[in-house]
Amino acid sequence: MKLTTHTLGYPRIGAQRELKKALEAYWAGELTREALEQAGKELRARHWQEQKDAGLDFVTVGDFAFYDQILNLSLAFGVIPPRFQTAPEQADLDTYFCMARGRAPTGTPAAACEMTKWFDTNYHYLVPEFQSQQTFSLQPQRLLSEVQEALALGHQVKVVLTGPLTFLWQGKAQGDFDRLALLPELLPVYAQLLQKLANQGVSWVQLDEPILALDLPQSWKQAFETAYNQLQSAPVKKLLAVYFGGLEDNLGLAVQLPVDGLHLDLVRAPQELQQVLDRLPAYKILSAGVIDGRNIWRSDLESLNQQLSEALERLGERLWLAPSCSLLHVPHDLVQEDQLDNELKSWMAFARQKLDEVTLLVASLSGGVTAEQRQALEANRQARISRNGSHRIHQPTVQQRLAAVDPAMLERDAPYAERIKAQQDWLKLPLFPTTSIGSFPQTPEIRKARRDYKAGTLDEAAYRAAMQQEIAYCIRQQEQLGIDVLVHGEAERNDMVEYFGEQLQGYAFTRFGWVQSYGSRCVKPPVIYGDVSRPQAMTVEWSVFAQSLTDRPMKGMLTGPLTCLQWAFVRDDQPRETTCKQIALALRDEVRDLEAAGIRVIQIDEPAFREGLPLRKADWAAYLRWAVDSFRLTAAVAADSTQIHTHMCYSEFNDIIQAIADLDADVITIETSRSNMELLDAFEDFDYPNEIGPGVYDIHSPNIPEVDWMVALMKKAAEKIPPQRLWVNPDCGLKTRRWEEVTPALAAMVEATRQLRQLN
Ligand code: GLN
Ligand code: ZN
Repeated sequence: MKLTTHTLGYPRIGAQRELKKALEAYWAGELTREALEQAGKELRARHWQEQKDAGLDFVTVGDFAFYDQILNLSLAFGVIPPRFQTAPEQADLDTYFCMARGRAPTGTPAAACEMTKWFDTNYHYLVPEFQSQQTFSLQPQRLLSEVQEALALGHQVKVVLTGPLTFLWQGKAQGDFDRLALLPELLPVYAQLLQKLANQGVSWVQLDEPILALDLPQSWKQAFETAYNQLQSAPVKKLLAVYFGGLEDNLGLAVQLPVDGLHLDLVRAPQELQQVLDRLPAYKILSAGVIDGRNIWRSDLESLNQQLSEALERLGERLWLAPSCSLLHVPHDLVQEDQLDNELKSWMAFARQKLDEVTLLVASLSGGVTAEQRQALEANRQARISRNGSHRIHQPTVQQRLAAVDPAMLERDAPYAERIKAQQDWLKLPLFPTTSIGSFPQTPEIRKARRDYKAGTLDEAAYRAAMQQEIAYCIRQQEQLGIDVLVHGEAERNDMVEYFGEQLQGYAFTRFGWVQSYGSRCVKPPVIYGDVSRPQAMTVEWSVFAQSLTDRPMKGMLTGPLTCLQWAFVRDDQPRETTCKQIALALRDEVRDLEAAGIRVIQIDEPAFREGLPLRKADWAAYLRWAVDSFRLTAAVAADSTQIHTHMCYSEFNDIIQAIADLDADVITIETSRSNMELLDAFEDFDYPNEIGPGVYDIHSPNIPEVDWMVALMKKAAEKIPPQRLWVNPDCGLKTRRWEEVTPALAAMVEATRQLRQLN
């Protein structure tokens, strides 16, 4: 029996981040457009070859993008906002970069398109902007020529396109109209594109509709039927791909749509296989997404083999196998990791290895295993046994400690109303206290010192001395500016998550584990592989040193458990909740140690708090419960007179305000300036009881904020929140700014505060 294999998508940045380098060189004017196009072409060819070498039946075309695959589609359909002043047929690569970044080597700069997270991933796409009179026109050249390239290389091609409903859903109407109303205009363009692909000899097109894993309004559900009925006659086979979650209430709809196949994410929703098997019409294939496209662990092929045996029996060759989603979300190739030990490495699979898992699973399912594959299957089994029993993963003391957590550990001693008095007694802060979010400029000198230290050319003592000097400078600046509650500036931290991960047990770091975040930007998430514990204090020395330099209160600065979890690859052998609480316990000890060392204002950053929300509303309550508990487990060890701050970046608070209040932080600072204080409405409506520092200026912009503007913003804030409970601070950390920007900006902020105090 021959089962078909494919991948929904593949990383495009290159194992050595070649695409990043080429893009940045092109933007800097150091690479010609031809050379950039050539770099793209070579990467595509290499990545298709990897798919072929792994033994996949198709290579996937259409997942490549110089910036973002959704932006590719916007251009392919002529969706170019008027401010770029370019007709669809005139758009070129620089129009594309202009839309992505606001500027390009040629063309007139204009405000870049909005960027936002792709579902619950850390990948950011460019939001299509639809005008009320939006028309669509097909500009398929780029895609068609990529198809041509793949065909010329002798590949069997499957094309991937984001489907029409997900494309509309992920976009934004500019003005007061429903973007779903654009569907009738959009569908003919999709149909034309499918026709053109058919003309080129493409037999399968994968239409990604991950929104079928969301709670959809009735009108959108109905639109699926309309849309796919209309696309039905296009002479290609259509594979409808759903991932990042289960179909749930959309299951009946999805199995019935007039397409030729359905892809399911059986990593996120293994329980749906049975139902789909029972309901899938006999003419459809089922693509089983069983290899985890969102994490870096090796699959358990033996158990997958068992899980799929019934599907195999019932579907025969109508069963296809694939990763659960595009492999865009995992690093490229584990083989490069020469500094991970062999044991850890044997537990992992990156994109390239995941392709092998797909073909290996097919071989084991269909019984045609070669000698080499038998060995690979055995290695897979051994790795699982080693991982299940490893002492490096399972730390009885950590597990016992977590089991012994009792509800009292989640409670501060007194309620906020009493705590705040104990805090004010010693803090003696003025009305509208000023502070900052933590980091100060990461100067070229700081980066160089860190590089030299890592390279071994700067010894530890010299490195520490250099960082201490930076900290001292930062404190002096804040004192001169007249800020009330100081920070040390985080000079010693390369990254707010990595810094802690490197000091915790249970974490590993890769050298090349880059994952595209947006455009040319990549992140390298740490790997949490085992029970997490804290061998020793992580921040205390730095904070104590900083406090010794000033009489003003110094904030201790920690990254919270949810953010540590959310921005890492997390072990999949226990619930995320358990891992999160282990981190929380480690951080709890840090809070206790900071406090014992005399640090009595402690900030626990949780910028990723909201990001962790599940895609389906029905799952929110469960997440929020353990998320809030984890934060409280970290914080509640603090004495009442110790002031706990938290910080969250730009996010909606309306639908999670109860959970925010349940965190029971004494002070929360939030990113608000871009929303004109509108984010405070949620706090106002809720009668949020604790203190709030709404950011008064946007740290992402190099512009110096105006005093009047900040005064006006704070007046607005004071209409919503009693002034006694308001703080004044920037939106977020200042590490990406230069001192020449930071000093005048903070001076203006302090001046605005002075004026505000006079008014009150
Ligand atoms: N304390 C961190 C900083 O100032 C917070 C960063 C963040 O919110 N992303 O850099
Ligand atoms: Zn922030």
